[in-house]
Amino acid sequence: MIIVVKKGSDKKQVDNLLKWITHQGLKVDVSVGENSTVIGLVGDTSKIDIDLVHSMDIVDTVKRIQEPYKCANRKFHPEDTIVDIGGHKFGGKNFQIIAGPCSIESEKQIIGIAEAVKKAGANLLRGGAFKPRTSPYAFQGLRENGLDLLVKAKKETGMPIVTELMSIRHIDLFKDVDLVQIGARNMQNFELLKEVGRMGKPVLLKRGLANTIEEWLMSAEYIMSEGCKDIILCERGIRTFEPLTRNTLDLSAIPLLKELTHLPVIVDPSHASGLSRLVKPLSLAAVGVGADGLMIEVHNDPPHALCDGAQSIRPEQFADIVTRIDVMLPLVNKVRA
Ligand code: PEP
Ligand code: MN
Repeated sequence: MIIVVKKGSDKKQVDNLLKWITHQGLKVDVSVGENSTVIGLVGDTSKIDIDLVHSMDIVDTVKRIQEPYKCANRKFHPEDTIVDIGGHKFGGKNFQIIAGPCSIESEKQIIGIAEAVKKAGANLLRGGAFKPRTSPYAFQGLRENGLDLLVKAKKETGMPIVTELMSIRHIDLFKDVDLVQIGARNMQNFELLKEVGRMGKPVLLKRGLANTIEEWLMSAEYIMSEGCKDIILCERGIRTFEPLTRNTLDLSAIPLLKELTHLPVIVDPSHASGLSRLVKPLSLAAVGVGADGLMIEVHNDPPHALCDGAQSIRPEQFADIVTRIDVMLPLVNKVRA
């Protein structure tokens, strides 16, 4: 249920309404906008008398909502959520670019790539330390050592860092990580989602390999229901019957999500296609459909990458994409700051 409070209402009366709602065992999500204040009621609202609420002086409208996600729902929170990662804002008119290798392989590799992508215009640095690989015999990432190297690259370049958390057991190792990634394979690891929601850090939530948009938003809801408001969604392609690409990039999800949720949405064209030559056209397409940013895998030597070399582009190819994005951004009313 959502309650829209009349503009200019007395704060004390609004507080009394909030107290009354929480007394009934419900949680409230209050969104104060320029034109209205929207109160989202989270929990079992069946015991709330909608006519009684409607009759209150300060109440403009009351609506029951159908969607099972509440905190992530744009009806509760009409204005875009802006997630600030070390001064780089995701959401609203902002556009951000995250770049870096699939996996951190050595100090020289991560620092070299970090400097190159920064020079080309990337805003945040990515790099996997704990890697979710299909085979237990494949390279699993440098783990704790990888995280140390990523933090070193952050100190050298000043770029905020993004890396994947796969297990609750590793949470304490993530204190210097600016944006915690939940990968596609863990999108429905509900215990992990709940713990991540309590970490007090922003979360990059990737879409599951074969999950619907509603399931994805319900996973965001798990994190948000633990108090975390700073979530960025990342469309990374879904599994379809098409074998020529690693996944199929669901571009229609982006404008649809913009209607359904207030959370920022970015696109990962690297995992979506699995092919380095498709990264440029898919990146530009993502800008065209209104994405709030991109996450691109960049490697200094893709043929020798320990993970995902086939989809990794070189720094000079990345620089070319950034130049073209900057030309397109005014057309979609976005800025890169
Ligand atoms: C990644 O970004 O490193 C990754 C493993 O992606 P996904 O979870 O989307 O497969
Ligand atoms: Mn990868």
